[in-house]
Amino acid sequence: MLTRLFSRIGRADAAPNGKINLPEQSTLIDVRNVVKIYETGAGKFLALKGVNMQVNTHEFVAVIGKSGSGKSTLVNMISGIDRPSTGEVFVDDTPIHRLNEGQLAVWRGKSLGVIFQFFQLLPSLTVVENVMLPMDFCNMYAPRERFDRAMSLLEHVGIAEHAHKLPSATSGGQQQRAAIARALANDPPIILADEPTGNLDSRTADQVFNLFSTLVQEGKTILMVTHDKDLAKRVTRAVTVADGEIVDEIRNP
Ligand code: ADP
Ligand code: MG
Repeated sequence: MLTRLFSRIGRADAAPNGKINLPEQSTLIDVRNVVKIYETGAGKFLALKGVNMQVNTHEFVAVIGKSGSGKSTLVNMISGIDRPSTGEVFVDDTPIHRLNEGQLAVWRGKSLGVIFQFFQLLPSLTVVENVMLPMDFCNMYAPRERFDRAMSLLEHVGIAEHAHKLPSATSGGQQQRAAIARALANDPPIILADEPTGNLDSRTADQVFNLFSTLVQEGKTILMVTHDKDLAKRVTRAVTVADGEIVDEIRNP
């Protein structure tokens, strides 16, 4: 499964005639008729009302919508953090809705990089140790390669000089870059980000967004929840969620 996941990813190659050969596109995320009902003290709450959504390889998709519309619920269905009440979710043909917790943890660790608004770095580990954690957890890469790999990822996101600090000794923007490096640790084909710039000032948010654009150019597929209308204009497709439904979709040129 993994070799297949990785073989689909790859940079666009320049042919001898100078034309760019874009890698072929295929459906990577397939959300089918997903309904999510939360049981609350006040009764049942219908958070997703039969959502259908597909994301192709190499797309950069923004999910926008008001607070409480169901954006995080939708992303959590794809990461397997939460389960649909009914419906199906396939990620590269893996039926996420059917995996048990143990299978989910292993699958997620190798196939997805997840980024949250509040970074969720482990506070007692240094930045570089945080980035090594997914490799340790999934036993990916030889143990003695992990440190060098983590350092090169930190270089890629521009914070190698902060590698040995605790997260609390770095800025919000640096912590989010560390979280992005951690999300890339096992070279997953897909990055899911839930309001990754929601806690950053506009300049830092712009830098983090540019880093995402670079990752898409490098072959990643990104699904990003954002409140920022300007950022949503700079992705390949923006999907609007309202009251648990997809109500609009804009493809940017
Ligand atoms: P968004 O991310 O768009 O702000 P959410 O997906 O977090 O929205 O939430 C959608 C709706 O579902 C909201 O009305 C929220 O209160 C409700 N909700 C989210 N999580 C739970 C939960 N665990 N239990 C009950 N209701 C929830
Ligand atoms: Mg949310």
